[in-house]
Amino acid sequence: MMKKNVLLIFTQEIMYKPIIYRLVKDHDIVFNVLESKILPKQEGRIILELTGSEEQLENALNFVRDEGVVVEILANRIKRDEDLCTHCGACTAVCRTDALSIDRETMEVIFCPEKCVACGLCKLACPVKAMSGMSIEVDPEELQSGESTVPQLDL
Ligand code: SF4
Ligand code: SF4
Repeated sequence: MMKKNVLLIFTQEIMYKPIIYRLVKDHDIVFNVLESKILPKQEGRIILELTGSEEQLENALNFVRDEGVVVEILANRIKRDEDLCTHCGACTAVCRTDALSIDRETMEVIFCPEKCVACGLCKLACPVKAMSGMSIEVDPEELQSGESTVPQLDL
């Protein structure tokens, strides 16, 4: 069994379709809601931890994409700026999933984006603002750099 954390974005046209229900029923996926943001009649965003076999996860994500959902793999969004990071270790104290941990031999902070659940605590803890991309919305820096494929919330 694998786990994959994803940000799903539902546009106005599809936000009331039972897509999550079909993820479970048709694809046998176990899910855990990490964060959600609903703007009624406009847009829905949800960060899910999905559990299943590699094939189940691939089929499930293909299914939601075919239904018109924008899918972002969280591990591809979360970034640490290696030039800024001083390996001070402050973020490891708040990261409850061990996505950030200290290598006791080298005393460097190891970042494993696949374990990240987008809680955002490391961003608050980091004195040099090295962490980015864990917001359910789009970071302004990502928009400026053109890195994000996620549509901006139309508030
Ligand atoms: S708190 Fe920031 S600077 Fe310190 S180890 Fe974590 S990412 Fe690097
Ligand atoms: S957002 Fe930061 S603190 Fe939270 S799980 Fe991800 S790496 Fe850890």
